[in-house]
Amino acid sequence: MKNIKKDSISPPDPRPRLAEHIAKLPKSGIRDFFELVNQMDDVISLGVGEPDFVTPWTIRENAIYSLDSGRTSYTSNLGLLSLRKAVCSYVAENYDVQYNPVNECIITVGVSEALDLVIRAITDPGDEIIYHEPCYVSYAPEIKMALGVPVPVDTCEKNGFALDPADLEKAITPKTKAILLNFPCNPTGAVIDMEQMKAIAQTAIKHDLIVLADLIYSELIYDSNILPAISSLPGMKERTVFLHGFSKAFAMTGFRIGYACGPRDIIDAMMKIHQYSMLCAPITAQEAAEEALKNALCDRDVMCREYRARRNVIVKRFNDAGLPCVMPHGAFYVFPNITSTGLSSMEFATQLIHKKKVAVVPGTAFGACGEGYIRACYATSMEGINEATARIREFVEELKK
Ligand code: PMP
Repeated sequence: MKNIKKDSISPPDPRPRLAEHIAKLPKSGIRDFFELVNQMDDVISLGVGEPDFVTPWTIRENAIYSLDSGRTSYTSNLGLLSLRKAVCSYVAENYDVQYNPVNECIITVGVSEALDLVIRAITDPGDEIIYHEPCYVSYAPEIKMALGVPVPVDTCEKNGFALDPADLEKAITPKTKAILLNFPCNPTGAVIDMEQMKAIAQTAIKHDLIVLADLIYSELIYDSNILPAISSLPGMKERTVFLHGFSKAFAMTGFRIGYACGPRDIIDAMMKIHQYSMLCAPITAQEAAEEALKNALCDRDVMCREYRARRNVIVKRFNDAGLPCVMPHGAFYVFPNITSTGLSSMEFATQLIHKKKVAVVPGTAFGACGEGYIRACYATSMEGINEATARIREFVEELKK
């Protein structure tokens, strides 16, 4: 028998328990902040981006009826065909682009799942996906989880936080696979105009890129009609994945229901991931969503009008408080500039919550170029908006002393 050296049998270094790319992911800046908020009493929150309205009654009643009738099974992996038909009609009517409900539409667990599926479906390791910052907190992590490379393009206040097509062009490399757009934008409320949209479309065609259009706020547009979808422009339907859902316009965040419409090969690939990881979206939520599209359009419009009125008030009150705030044209967020206070975004938000019990989100939660800004969500009552902005004004005045 060979003489085994002692150290040759010592256990190898323990292997890390976590995948390296997951261990390195930061937690969402918003969630950290709201852990703090939840521990405090009497806070007025302009924080979490969620409608303050309860889901319209007809939708809730339908969900109750669905359960009461014993419909508690799985559905087709793609989702109920009746819902896919209703979705495709809604998209055709409101966004002027036709999709086939049989093979160009998939029902998902919120836009969150639709985003995850499409990013995983199109990304090979090292592929770059461009998006505009400040942006929704999930984009960069989603891309990293798919082993892709997030490529943010800064947007700025002087352009109303719209994506400048020239900046987009500069960010493109041979590894660029897709452009992710979110207009109206979380956190800035920015929209893009038709000229900008056409220029972005031309860039996508020129470089043969896929466009992921996150349209979750597209009904909440205040100074024109619903935003036309980029997929309705010539040459774009075949390269665009249209991502949408029910959370915002129909106040259905808790139902966790969304959808993607797009080219058949991409929807097919998304469907493979979805069938192995999620199987299908919950049937109760699917039936409720169908009811939303059939019978809750008036409720949607009433909520949208109320957000518009609140937007006008909150923008004025931030400007009156000495925090310049561009008028956002969509979503339910304002993104005022706080640089005159001399505080960083994080300092501003932290001091505001401790001194005045008002919660806002530091702009840096949405990307480095959010420094100097805070996000305030006006999906809260007019009374709450008035009280919160009065306290913010006091806070800003006290800082000057
Ligand atoms: N995209 C954007 C821009 C969002 O703001 C959100 C939610 N805040 C989502 C996607 C995800 O929405 P959901 O999963 O509720 O449909």
